[in-house]
Amino acid sequence: MLVTGSNLSESSNAVLLAEQRRLLYATVGVHPCHALDIHKSGNPENYLTNLEKLALKGKNEGTVRAFGEIGMDYARLHYAPADIQKKYFIAQLDIAERLELPLFLHSRDCADDFADILIPRLPKLPRRGVVHSFTGTVDEMLLLVSHGFSIGINGCSLKTEENLEVVKAIPLDKILLETDAPWCEIRPTHASTKLLRSLTSPEMIPDLPTALKKEKFRKGSMVKGRCEPCAISMVAAVVAALKSISVGELCDIVWKNSVEMFGFDEHL
Ligand SMILES: [Zn+2]
Repeated sequence: MLVTGSNLSESSNAVLLAEQRRLLYATVGVHPCHALDIHKSGNPENYLTNLEKLALKGKNEGTVRAFGEIGMDYARLHYAPADIQKKYFIAQLDIAERLELPLFLHSRDCADDFADILIPRLPKLPRRGVVHSFTGTVDEMLLLVSHGFSIGINGCSLKTEENLEVVKAIPLDKILLETDAPWCEIRPTHASTKLLRSLTSPEMIPDLPTALKKEKFRKGSMVKGRCEPCAISMVAAVVAALKSISVGELCDIVWKNSVEMFGFDEHL
């Protein structure tokens, strides 16, 4: 599993988790919704230098496998205005060119600006990366894939019938699966749930633990309303159904894609 960092302190927490547990790896980066954290730190240059140091140390120690989440999010400008998001996306791409880690990218409702900033820099970003939690159009997806990027699919990427059509069109060797836990769960109102309910063979549908209200949490249950890593099986079931392959086949392909991109331990 890849634990994503969203600002300097969260990234350093993600690295700590990766140091403590062999199945976890980390990303380091500042999410567009946290772009003001850099701005308000009082010393943006120092903040970014510390971010780069953390990423480089983790890269050398094997805990950090991608640089991100970085990118832009015009759906949530209340967290950080567009000009600040852009400024620090560009500043972090400068860092990424030196780090030579794959990118973990966040792009929401900003596809044109995102592509305009990213694509001219690609000669200096040969490891490419993943555009995660993808909710764009088929054309936006194909543009990213044509430049060598992979597409990360979670519950948010499977909300509408249009979303499902996009997933059908992603080449299998460019698909990665994620939950984005604690966010982006598959909900009963989503097109993905309708698809799961239409599947005739019960073994295609994963059996998740019972979800209990957080006040009534018991070990072995899930917390109601919170996406959790085990829900990756739901995402896999939906994507396998869309691709008309078995969940096992899909998982083999996605694992191979993940090992190739992030250098996870193949033997696990
Ligand atoms: Zn994101």
